Amino acid sequence: MREVPDFPQPGVLFRDINPVLADPAALRVLVDALAATADPVPDVVLALEARGFLLGAAVAYSLGLGVVPVRKAGKLPEVAHRVDYALEYGTATFELPAGVLRPGQRVLVVDDVLATGGTVEAACELVERAGCSVSGVSVVFEIGALGGRERLVGRKVSALLGV
Ligand code: AMP
Repeated sequence: MREVPDFPQPGVLFRDINPVLADPAALRVLVDALAATADPVPDVVLALEARGFLLGAAVAYSLGLGVVPVRKAGKLPEVAHRVDYALEYGTATFELPAGVLRPGQRVLVVDDVLATGGTVEAACELVERAGCSVSGVSVVFEIGALGGRERLVGRKVSALLGV
């Protein structure tokens, strides 16, 4: 992974997974390791825009499951639920597509980085508003000092790497 200081704004050390994604051996190790965190195996994978899409789709394929994208506002033709949330840098809105999650499904949430936890928390809220449950949260990298895990207390959070 690459560390990029002061991106996307001063004071943020951006953890860039692009070099890992671009390396075939590293990508396989990463996806296999994320898939191994899915215990118990869920019914479906929820992938968070945008880098979570790349990982979530691969994890779902590897587990033989489907994938549901959570999108930033304004990209979906039909929205089931919408949640506003605060980021380490700025604010955003997440939307869950209509007609894909079925009530009662157990959902694994996949993203690249866990920082303050606001992004994952918003995704979990969407899952629960849809009548589903979060079986776990799996990320590549956790920035422990930002307190995401404490914010997600009670949830099964798995991170492959962290500081
Ligand atoms: P947070 O909601 O604060 O946990 O932020 C997590 C989301 O923002 C993830 O979707 C990450 O892609 C992105 N993110 C936040 N901080 C960083 C960081 N330092 N490096 C890379 N991505 C980050």
